[in-house]
Amino acid sequence: MATYRAVEVAPDGSLRPTERELVPPGPGQVRIRVEACGICHSDSVAVRPHDEAEPGRVPGHEAVGRVDALGEGVTGWSEGDRVGVGFLGGHCGMCARCRLGDFVGCTDQPYTGVHVDGGCAEYMYARQTGLVSVPEEMSATRVAPLLCAGFTVYNALVEHVRQPGGLVAGDLVAVQGIGGLGHLALQYARALALQVVAVARGADKEELALRLGAHHYVDSTARSRRCWRGPSGSSSSARQARTGPSSVKRTACAGPCTSPMRRRGVTGIEASSFHRPDGFPAAVRRLRTAVPLHGVVLRPAATPKK
Ligand SMILES: [Zn+2]
Ligand SMILES: [Zn+2]
Repeated sequence: MATYRAVEVAPDGSLRPTERELVPPGPGQVRIRVEACGICHSDSVAVRPHDEAEPGRVPGHEAVGRVDALGEGVTGWSEGDRVGVGFLGGHCGMCARCRLGDFVGCTDQPYTGVHVDGGCAEYMYARQTGLVSVPEEMSATRVAPLLCAGFTVYNALVEHVRQPGGLVAGDLVAVQGIGGLGHLALQYARALALQVVAVARGADKEELALRLGAHHYVDSTARSRRCWRGPSGSSSSARQARTGPSSVKRTACAGPCTSPMRRRGVTGIEASSFHRPDGFPAAVRRLRTAVPLHGVVLRPAATPKK
């Protein structure tokens, strides 16, 4: 029996190494040989204690790999294709939402790493409708975070660029929270020719934010105007920054500092969706340390054990 290695969530919420049987993909599915998988706050949905009777789920929903086998009825994908899988594991194409073209709202769509095993493994399975094509020249570790964190903030930005009267080149955008999402949001905003204000607590993120393309940095814990910093100095954009940005992308729980901006701004991501009773940081920390400790190596050359 051929098997592959993975990391699964034990009933007590800890992560443990496991082996899964390497079976052919089901109808409409592909089997993917995983190259890399990112770690996201939403992994905490799966990395938590669960009933003994429930299967230990393999987390991970920012997976990049290569199609290794095709299930019955799969069209448009071939063995060897390089693909990515995000949180939405593939729409059904049959439900009422799908028939309206609302594939995100599909009522029969598995969440990768929550309802079905995810990418913290040498192999994974996914619906063909959940796949995106990944260019050969892009490194798996760079692409993986774009499949959830990047996709989320990119969509929020582009939505406000496309809408009538929306953002145009030179408009000021604030990115609140320079973490897993925010550090990508400010790079997208800069690439869209927007003036970018990075907002974070303390001065620790300033160097990173400016290096990644932010025009200004705001230490949200600072009380004076000196908290506004950036290479543009006292330019008109900096004055605009003091009066309020056109759009605010919140990627972290809002603090008191952001309320003046929220009055004027358009929120791309609701911070309330991040409020979890069980505390996601601990779960995510466990995932980050468990994967290398358990010896699961994710690389293109991984082969199943015979
Ligand atoms: Zn995610
Ligand atoms: Zn559907």
